[in-house]
Amino acid sequence: MKCQFTVFRFDPAADESPRYQEYRVDAEPTDKILDCLNKIRWEQDPTLAFRASCSHGICGSDALTINGHVGLACQKLVRDYKTANNFVIEPLPLFKVIKDLVVDMNPFLEKHRSVKPYLINDEPPPEGERIQSQKDQTVIEPALRCILCASCTASCPISRSNPDYVGPAALLRAFRYVYDSRDTATGSRLAGLDGNDGAWGCKTMWWCTDVCPKGIPVTRCIGQIKRAIKQKDKKP
Ligand code: SF4
Repeated sequence: MKCQFTVFRFDPAADESPRYQEYRVDAEPTDKILDCLNKIRWEQDPTLAFRASCSHGICGSDALTINGHVGLACQKLVRDYKTANNFVIEPLPLFKVIKDLVVDMNPFLEKHRSVKPYLINDEPPPEGERIQSQKDQTVIEPALRCILCASCTASCPISRSNPDYVGPAALLRAFRYVYDSRDTATGSRLAGLDGNDGAWGCKTMWWCTDVCPKGIPVTRCIGQIKRAIKQKDKKP
């Protein structure tokens, strides 16, 4: 069937302002939106810029705004949309456009780095690995599914109104280490998250949870950070 794609185009190095370009694509209902974008780039317009890598919802690089909703282009199918085969494709909101559908992820990654996204343990290392029980791992399992696609942060109304808010993806990563039974930096982690640019910036609006392509209960995890702050650094 024929699908109409209206695609955001903008090259800040060459264009004065953004524009939208129309493409017609032959697609099957089971085609991914990413398949359609590939067809456009491979068969019609090699200048169209977008990111994609694994094409299977693992790398998180093709998060876009599709008909007004944030999602991974490789996880959304043509038949998922009841829009008479008309698609409007735009970059992630909130992020600065580098070219067309490619956005600057650096501010997002800097915020991710700010929560120290690695295990901190100042105890002498054991001979083997630092073992974690299955029960303890279950606590942090939701956060282990995060692919850093940035869909949650791009959709977050607080991130849009407060540029200093660390955002749901970074808070989720913080949750992963605050609740890791092997991490010994819980106190300093919670102190760093105790403010309106940290966990208290979250107003529990659930948009992050709604858009997460990995089904992670992001809002609930942020709530658990708030609870840990209230409980004065106690591990669960
Ligand atoms: S929590 Fe979900 S939406 Fe947010 S970056 Fe991770 S995978 Fe993407």
